[in-house]
Amino acid sequence: MAIDASWALRWVGASQEVLAENREHLIDLDRQIGDGDHGENMDRGFTAVAKALADQPPEDVPGVLKVVAKTLMSTVGGAAGPLYGTAFLRAAKAAPEGDLDSQDVVALLAGALEGIQARGKAESGDKTMVDAWAPAVAAARAAADEGCSPEEVLDAAATGAAEGAAATEPLQARKGRASYLGERSIGHLDPGAVSSSLILTEAARAASA
Ligand code: ADP
Ligand code: MG
Repeated sequence: MAIDASWALRWVGASQEVLAENREHLIDLDRQIGDGDHGENMDRGFTAVAKALADQPPEDVPGVLKVVAKTLMSTVGGAAGPLYGTAFLRAAKAAPEGDLDSQDVVALLAGALEGIQARGKAESGDKTMVDAWAPAVAAARAAADEGCSPEEVLDAAATGAAEGAAATEPLQARKGRASYLGERSIGHLDPGAVSSSLILTEAARAASA
């Protein structure tokens, strides 16, 4: 299946649904090591994104990702809005207008990670969404270099993100609100890493739908 604008629209639409379904779960996670608003932030942001895209669906992948970026920046407060906004903006800049091949998919994902790190200055192991995106990009790159299809590259990214999100539990937070808790942040999943894993799972599903 082509990785094109209709893939991007399916991806974002499915992300909106899954974030709405996981609203309470993400609120619960953020209540444990933050202020409990992550589920609400993501649900509000992606509901606005879905509406913006329904009004005027762009015709290429960068166009879709730019609408996501702008909408998240203007509707999501807190840390996550600017971080996800910059991620989607850099992903848009990295993606070609035509169909994406395997290396283009890697470039899109790597652009998102670069945006998150440019904005938030977190490294792997700081217990943030970087801990989902960095292994996702690494797994995607390895799959593309082995000659995997774009769908397989997205599957590898989703698996990398899920493993990375799960691995945030024993970490102590060194960035963001959770870092104020010091050692008490240990033993909880990072909410932004979990929402990132949900979103990347939908990127893979949208490619096989
Ligand atoms: P806030 O922390 O302002 O309440 P959210 O609850 O929506 O915002 O988002 C919290 C998530 O943002 C965290 O779980 C973490 O994944 C992510 N985050 C916070 N600070 C950073 C950072 N500097 N770099 C990367 N991700 C971060
Ligand atoms: Mg919060």
